[in-house]
Amino acid sequence: MSCIFCQIVAGEIPSDRVLETEDLVVFRDIQAQAPTHLLVVPRRHVGSLDELEDPALAGELLVTAGRVAREAGLDRGWRLIANTGVEGGQEVPHLHLHVLGGRPLGRMLSA
Ligand code: 5GP
Ligand code: ZN
Repeated sequence: MSCIFCQIVAGEIPSDRVLETEDLVVFRDIQAQAPTHLLVVPRRHVGSLDELEDPALAGELLVTAGRVAREAGLDRGWRLIANTGVEGGQEVPHLHLHVLGGRPLGRMLSA
């Protein structure tokens, strides 16, 4: 299995997990861009939002992002990012949502 997030989900690569559900794993980004930087990742390999066809999984991803943001105490606001594809800046080809917060995040895009 070559996908790094599949390996993290399987426990073959360690991660700092904050939540596990039947369908999702949430862990801390190894290169945090904000005081809170979580990755919401489906257990099942889906390449990106371009390949996501399951509305139930889509809903669970969003609801879980909100849940972990609340549990992280991000009551002043937070940001959800889904980098998708080459021009979207996606580096890991396994669908994931970034939950970022804990400082003012500024404008949405810097370039
Ligand atoms: P992307 O650019 O694909 O949206 O984001 C991939 C994210 O995965 C990056 O923020 C990167 O820091 C994170 N990442 C890459 N490899 C690992 C890893 O092995 N463990 C963890 N926890 N995060 C990783
Ligand atoms: Zn994968």
